[in-house]
Amino acid sequence: MTIRTRLAVQFLLLASFILGGAFIVVYVLSAEYRTDQFMNRLHDRGANTAKILIQIEEVDERLLAKIEGDNPVRLPEESIIVFDNNDKEIFRLGSSDPPPVTPAFLKHVREEGEIREEVDQRERTAFLFDNGDERFIVIASGRDIYGRSKLRNQGRVMIATFLIGQVLIFLVGRFYAQRALSPVKRLVQDIEDISSTSLSRRVRTGNEHDELAQLARTFNTLMDDLQTSFQTQKNFIANASHEMRTPLSAISGQLEVLLLKARSPEEYGLSLRSILDDMRSLNRLADRLLLMAQAENKATAAFGTLRLDEIIWQARAELQRLHPDHLVDIDMDGVEDESDLLIRGNEDLLRSLLMNLLENACKYSGDHRAQVRLYGLGGDVAIDVVDSGIGIAAEDQERIFEPFYRAANTGTARGHGVGLPLARRIAELHGGRLFLESAIGKGTRFTVCLPRVV
Ligand code: ADP
Repeated sequence: MTIRTRLAVQFLLLASFILGGAFIVVYVLSAEYRTDQFMNRLHDRGANTAKILIQIEEVDERLLAKIEGDNPVRLPEESIIVFDNNDKEIFRLGSSDPPPVTPAFLKHVREEGEIREEVDQRERTAFLFDNGDERFIVIASGRDIYGRSKLRNQGRVMIATFLIGQVLIFLVGRFYAQRALSPVKRLVQDIEDISSTSLSRRVRTGNEHDELAQLARTFNTLMDDLQTSFQTQKNFIANASHEMRTPLSAISGQLEVLLLKARSPEEYGLSLRSILDDMRSLNRLADRLLLMAQAENKATAAFGTLRLDEIIWQARAELQRLHPDHLVDIDMDGVEDESDLLIRGNEDLLRSLLMNLLENACKYSGDHRAQVRLYGLGGDVAIDVVDSGIGIAAEDQERIFEPFYRAANTGTARGHGVGLPLARRIAELHGGRLFLESAIGKGTRFTVCLPRVV
């Protein structure tokens, strides 16, 4: 069932409930009112007749029957019966077939004072008529033909109104549901028009104020994010394949040249070393891309409690194995307690982060030296990696965190521009930050802050 029909049906049920309820209440009240009115008229008729019969001496039963027989205000099928103190019938007027009167009924009337009831579609009121020392019983009955037919008619009108109302309410409900849902339909159409090739399209935001406009705006924001990440992904793949193709073409070029003719052992050695360098660089790029994929998702990276100083020592050892001429000084004077060095994290990712910073610091400084300083900073443990190298221009300081971006002053230093984006991603994955301070020609300080285990 569509929302439109569902809304219309709910609207119909609600309206029917209210309308039906109101009609029932009105009908019941009308029915009660009719009964009361007719009973009161019967009572008045009975009381008047009894008063004339009992209190006016000149009037006997025959005269009263004659007077009342001609009375124009007589009620349909009216019957008035009067019993004396001993329950003996002393007067009877009207319908030859009134509801039966039993001694038990008379007794009941004497106990209750007045009984009003409906017998065979006829109203009957029986009450005591006190005349000083005697208590008469007057029983007046009649058929409220006019009142009943009026009530029946009212009932029929109500049922017809209710049924016609149902149809109208359903149609009106459907119309309003359709109107209310038309912005949703438009939204769905707009969304259907968006595909991976038209990611720049956006949905219309309608009147800008209501909940649907809010939904459309939220959707558009989501699309902005998706488009950006889709574009980033596309650029990333293009850059990654470019970065891989460069060393691969260099390797195949060198091999082709080498195969052109026989070479001396020195020439072979030189070429093979160069090829090995390219292969290593390719290998490191592949490693970093793999780590990047790993760092994208916290669920895939196993976390444990680690000592940060141990990871720094490991990173330094690995750096010196790869580049024996790189020097790293580690200063831990800022650490008051060893427990301040405990963090929760992934060892491989953190080692790679520090390796990148140490390697860059040595790579981009003439003395190939880096100073590392460890210290507590609020709830974090901070690591400064400082060099006195070429520095980074202010306009490049944010851009170097974009994948594959390399500043103009890197000269002949090899690299792919993947290390820092990876390092920042790893820091963020650990709930930390990576930022820098640098001046061209003076040097750079990278700072990593990671939350301590408390
Ligand atoms: P790369 O492989 O090029 O070193 P990174 O992502 O590690 O890639 O660094 C990105 C760029 O940031 C580098 O190309 C370089 O321009 C700049 N950079 C990074 N660290 C330093 C540093 N310590 N001193 C000067 N420039 C740096």
